[in-house]
Amino acid sequence: MPSERIVIVGAGLAAARAVEAARSTGFDGDILLVGEEPRLPYERPPLSKEWLTEDTLPDEPAVFPASSWDDWRVDRALGVRAQALDPQARILTLTGGRRLPYDRLLIATGARPRQLSVPGVELDGVLTLRTLPDATDLRARLRASQRIVVVGAGLIGLEVVAAARSLGRQVTVVEADHTPLRRLVGARMGATVAAMHADEGVELRFDETVTALRGHRRVEAVVLACGVSVAADLVVVGIGVEPDVGWLRGTGLDGPTGVPVDALTRTPVPGVHAAGDVAVTWQPESGILGRRFETYANAAAQGAAAGRALAGAPTPYVPSPGGSSNQYGHRLQFVGEVVGDEAVVVRGSVEERRFVAFYVREGRVTAAFTLDRARDVPAARALVAAGAAVPDEVLADPSASLAPWTVEHR
Ligand code: FAD
Ligand code: NAP
Repeated sequence: MPSERIVIVGAGLAAARAVEAARSTGFDGDILLVGEEPRLPYERPPLSKEWLTEDTLPDEPAVFPASSWDDWRVDRALGVRAQALDPQARILTLTGGRRLPYDRLLIATGARPRQLSVPGVELDGVLTLRTLPDATDLRARLRASQRIVVVGAGLIGLEVVAAARSLGRQVTVVEADHTPLRRLVGARMGATVAAMHADEGVELRFDETVTALRGHRRVEAVVLACGVSVAADLVVVGIGVEPDVGWLRGTGLDGPTGVPVDALTRTPVPGVHAAGDVAVTWQPESGILGRRFETYANAAAQGAAAGRALAGAPTPYVPSPGGSSNQYGHRLQFVGEVVGDEAVVVRGSVEERRFVAFYVREGRVTAAFTLDRARDVPAARALVAAGAAVPDEVLADPSASLAPWTVEHR
């Protein structure tokens, strides 16, 4: 009997963790990894941080050493894009026409940066950041530029801003919303993050959008909706990402919100699973789609869950919101989901930028944001997981232990 074949499309973090999990679960059949980038999976988080700022270029941040891929007997088709999927015949077609039959397939194609749709976007010096070559290009251009405009005050934008300021560059941020990171931390804490950047000398322009980029071959200025023109010799666009689903046209899996997956990483198409940035949570019973979780932790854990499912040993995985960021040497950590109408109770000092902000809804802790208070994150996670009802004065008192509130007082 021929051995079973798993094909994994997209050679990023979710794919890597899926392969590791499938082999450690005991899957002994064939595994083929298809990736558009001509390299084995690597980690993206350093690309907006030390990759940009270190004096010496760091080592390539491989997810696993090259030898692991040989040990796991993984066939590779790298530097080639998946072009089409025929789920009835169970055949994947690559650009160039190569046809690959599969028994089970994992969609792990991640997401790609949204681009501005304004005149001048094709000018030299207008960049997005997703891949290792993007980051290497940005690293060089940050050093060769003086005036940088970053469009979008999300995580990528703010990390690039911090890197550019640490290199002494003049930086302006243009953000459509009235604070940065509002969807992650709400308006009040967003203003705190904005103040941190203002103190570092960043020019912040909120409630503002870009209407055009001007220049002769190279970008020279960014024109804003208010009519102001900001001089720039480098523009970095960080306005979010879109799931990479174009190649799934005709399968029913190419919706704009991402590929639907249940807790066992199954899509509605038999034999096809998905994980990582491309996947949107889905409840098969109701058909309700949830959201995508664009984080390292999710890609790693959901990728591993997919690997176990592909190997025939499924275990449920439910994504949870959260994450972290490094800016100017400060550590920002996010736990749970902020809706925006919560009461915010602060433990620590906002002025000194060392605090935990607890988000309280209907008397229960639903989320937390910490700035340089990593030691409080486990307790914050436990409170959020328990939906703990903690009196505000306890939350606000740095000397009061939170541990008892994670269970007994519910
Ligand atoms: P990806 O890493 O995007 O990998 C998908 C791969 O699929 C890509 O290599 C792509 O080229 C390939 N592909 C796409 N379409 C096709 C196709 N048709 N055929 C073949 N191959 C295809 N998260 C955090 O939690 N903390 C951080 O500090 C953090 N920092 C980040 C910094 C940067 C610069 C970036 C870009 C992201 C960062 N993230 C961070 C997010 C995190 O890296 C992602 O959530 C994670 O990489 C998602 O993994 P993935 O495997 O789902 O997708
Ligand atoms: P993001 O977090 O979605 O932030 C995009 C920001 O740009 C949002 O604030 C958005 O405002 C704003 N925006 C959208 N359109 C705009 C426009 N036309 N003009 C000005 N502002 C606009 O996405 P990202 O920062 O681009 O990051 C890309 C991906 O990398 C994400 O998946 C992210 O999670 C990941 N990443 C993560 C980390 C980390 O976890 N530390 C670091 C880097 C990158 P609205 O919210 O109002 O739309």
